[in-house]
Amino acid sequence: MSPTPPTTPRLLPPRDSAALAANAVPEFRSEPLLAEWGPLPPGEPHGERVPTFHIDHQIIRLRFDWVRHAVVGSTTLRVMARDTALHDISLDAVDMIIHGVRRGVAGAPLRYTYNDSTLVVHLPSPLRPRAMTTVTVRYETVRPKKGVYFVDRRHDLWTQGEAAETRHWIPTYDYPNDKTTWEFYIRVPKNEKALSNGRLVGTRPVGRGEVEWHWSLGEPASTYLMSVATGDYTILRDSADGVPVDYWVYPDSVAAGWRGFGLTPRAVDLFAQKTRVPYPWEKYDQIVAPDFEYGGQENVTATTQSDDEVLHPAWAEPQARTDLLVSHELAHHWYGDYLTTRDWANVWLNEGFATFMEQYYTEAARGVSEAALERLGAQEQTIAADRRARRPIVYDRYQNDPIELFFSGHIYPKGALVLHMLRHDLGDSLFWAGMHRYTVDHARGTVVTADFERAMEATSGRDYSTFFRQWVYGAGFPVFQVSAQYDTAGRSVTLTARQVQPRDSLTGFFDANVDVEILTDSGPVSGVMPVHGEVSTLTLPLRAPPRSIRWDKGRWVLELYDFPRSTAMLAYQLAHDDDVLGRVEAAAGLAERAPDNTALGALTAAAVHDSQWAVRTRAVSALARWTGDSAADSTVRSTLLTATRDRDSRVRQRAALTLAHFPGEATEERLRQLVADSSRFVSGAALISFAAMDSTAALPLVQEAMTHASWRDIERKQAQAALAIIRRQTP
Ligand SMILES: [Zn+2]
Repeated sequence: MSPTPPTTPRLLPPRDSAALAANAVPEFRSEPLLAEWGPLPPGEPHGERVPTFHIDHQIIRLRFDWVRHAVVGSTTLRVMARDTALHDISLDAVDMIIHGVRRGVAGAPLRYTYNDSTLVVHLPSPLRPRAMTTVTVRYETVRPKKGVYFVDRRHDLWTQGEAAETRHWIPTYDYPNDKTTWEFYIRVPKNEKALSNGRLVGTRPVGRGEVEWHWSLGEPASTYLMSVATGDYTILRDSADGVPVDYWVYPDSVAAGWRGFGLTPRAVDLFAQKTRVPYPWEKYDQIVAPDFEYGGQENVTATTQSDDEVLHPAWAEPQARTDLLVSHELAHHWYGDYLTTRDWANVWLNEGFATFMEQYYTEAARGVSEAALERLGAQEQTIAADRRARRPIVYDRYQNDPIELFFSGHIYPKGALVLHMLRHDLGDSLFWAGMHRYTVDHARGTVVTADFERAMEATSGRDYSTFFRQWVYGAGFPVFQVSAQYDTAGRSVTLTARQVQPRDSLTGFFDANVDVEILTDSGPVSGVMPVHGEVSTLTLPLRAPPRSIRWDKGRWVLELYDFPRSTAMLAYQLAHDDDVLGRVEAAAGLAERAPDNTALGALTAAAVHDSQWAVRTRAVSALARWTGDSAADSTVRSTLLTATRDRDSRVRQRAALTLAHFPGEATEERLRQLVADSSRFVSGAALISFAAMDSTAALPLVQEAMTHASWRDIERKQAQAALAIIRRQTP
């Protein structure tokens, strides 16, 4: 499953930025970086559910009544007793009308009881351990609260199973720790199509202008992955290494469909190659769904994707990108569908892994800098999550629905970061060997965290119990105060790191190996500080004085830190660090040094010349701090105007927004031009800044933009934002 991306709050308290000489080192921030952890998320513990039987195979026959928004059908379950005799079969089935239960497909009626959430089928005689029986339930459900979603405006329908929605449309065992094969027979109008899991066995006309689609999943999966989607679709045919890979899109969205889905075969190849486990299913379909409640859902072999997330116009790139979503849901076909969390407390084994794989796809397809930026984003989300409500990754307390466990920030971003830390610690070759072992050892099975830990330890021969105790079963992260002393006579630098996070039963001191890099005029010097306990130090010999000092180069450790350095060092780092995250850090640090001239010089150079859009946008934003500084004014204006011509629309967008702080004839003229930029993100930003500057001149442009229909309605939304500014200014 994939949530919609969150926004990132500010992470650090401001530094007191009284005028500092370029080489002066400021004090630590006076406010604590993290004063207290957020409270544990509320709820009761929910241990793993104990299954009393196993579903060996399930057949579901459905039609959908669009007038009543009803699901009408029957399901046949071949059930096996486990280690003890089975007297009755308890099926999850919410708010259904049960028309009858029979033995076999059409055999003798069976006695049952039903209380609107559980259907208990009483077997006429106990089923011996390991013996099987078959029962058929005829049922319907009208306007289900969950599970099936009728989208009338398109006559499209999609279903959702995870976490506990399958029970709203199919009577079954609805918990991840049992796997079964299944078949769907779905009736739809003959001008529509129906997608489900597994292989399309065939279609046949069934009268009343309807066609029945028969799908069969030949390898077992958990029932939360059952899915159906119906509607008027065009199928785009692709393939990856012999596996059919198809995209189900609206008939008028073929080009956008290829744009959004076309990377899928490359991702299939990458994941198969890195895990050394070929794509484990017979085919892969993805379908776009209207009004989908998540970004995507990895319904086995038949992923449902939000149409808005996938189908975008060309101008919307690179702000709009589908590689994260497409690779995430695909990765679940190894981690989630093939290996499945045994209970919801361990759901990071699905979601943290898929998020890690999505970031790994970025690294392979877009390079290490883009991947590093995603890691940084994941750190920011995790830190915000622990400020809100700190919890361990493995956690089983929720109030009403297991879905509450998913989106706190500890499952997706933190789960992925833990895997990155392991990977950095082990090195790529051992890490992927461990992933391979874990994947083949538990193929088509269910897993808990200990299974993964064992595979990593067996592969590496190392003890990772402390690592898992601190990062997975414990909570929080280290907060460091870092300082550096240069010994001129001894020609060495000593780094000291003090852990200052609040400590309690869930969070103690952390162990970590932190990469340190010092740039000097005789080249870079790097080292690794083994962090352990409250205070750790590392001394590195240098041949020349330090020009800049990096703590945790690459940001591999999940952490917060305060490392005061001089303006001159940060300026040097912004210009020379080969790690994009070092330059991002330097740009943020220099923004706090306004109105310092050294800082301004470094930021204006980076705003125009840095090779990475993310550094250029941050440097552009930082220039707003020089508002009202008459000595800097013309430099800042000309830098921002240059940035509005950047090749990357994300930089142009930021420059257009930042220009609002610098009104004047030249900026107004430029903003007016930018309203016609090919990227609607840029034109909208320009309109908003223009409205702030000259509401009278902007009004007709805003009114014009209000009439434009656009992807996700972004033009109208931006125009509304501009109009709100104009209204505030008009008395
Ligand atoms: Zn997911």
